[in-house]
Amino acid sequence: MQFDLITLFPDFFESPLRYGVVARAILRGALTVRTHHLRGYTGDRHQTTDDRPYGGGEGMVMKIEPLYRALAGIAGAAERSVRAGAPDPARVILLSAQGRLFDQAMARRLAGYRQLVLICGRYEGVDERVAEHLADEEISIGNFVLTGGELAAAVLLDAVARLLPGVLGDAQSALNESFSLPEPAAAPLDCPHYTRPPEFNGWPVPQILLQGDHQAIRDWRARAAWDKTRRLRPDLCPAKPDE
Ligand code: SAM
Repeated sequence: MQFDLITLFPDFFESPLRYGVVARAILRGALTVRTHHLRGYTGDRHQTTDDRPYGGGEGMVMKIEPLYRALAGIAGAAERSVRAGAPDPARVILLSAQGRLFDQAMARRLAGYRQLVLICGRYEGVDERVAEHLADEEISIGNFVLTGGELAAAVLLDAVARLLPGVLGDAQSALNESFSLPEPAAAPLDCPHYTRPPEFNGWPVPQILLQGDHQAIRDWRARAAWDKTRRLRPDLCPAKPDE
């Protein structure tokens, strides 16, 4: 899969791409990431990417022309946004606090594309015509406002990248974790995990995990996952019939 990140701060992505699973995915060729500095797509001497809002008010708004040129310059995305209606392995995403909430199901869906183009906003946001005419969808990573789309893009990239074939060392790990697609009776959250030492500071690991009875361990994990889901995320538990 290819990610194209359109941003005013390309260096921002150096760290998120340099470590762990994502870095290995890039090394193995499962993932290609290109950053596109928006200033490179401006048409004026001052490399202007933002302007005052029509109607007045606070802050600056990111202009549509540099974003249009950046998209047109990105192979694949150009076909999508310029020739609307063509069958489309690429997806143009505007990171926005107003977008649909990102979740694991969305990460799975996005992992099916060949190319994702992520537009990172700044300031008061992006000229609305980008959402109306250039982006396929607007995605938010949560009900809060960040200073820019770069952190949100890094979050989305990370969650999608680890679902790509061959990226996780053990493909099973993506199936047995929180928000995966387990059998219907399984809890939405992963079970608690423990490692050595068996006791620390007087806090023991549950005995059952130390005894080697694999069926008993599976049963305990299923129960513990439900207990944890009920405790931390009751909103994810199915409602009882009388509720
Ligand atoms: N005026 C906007 C509003 O109230 O919705 C906020 C703009 S924010 C300061 C600047 C940029 O950060 C946005 O254009 C978007 O790209 C990004 N951003 C902020 N919060 C985000 C979120 N929760 N999810 C994704 N992107 C976000």
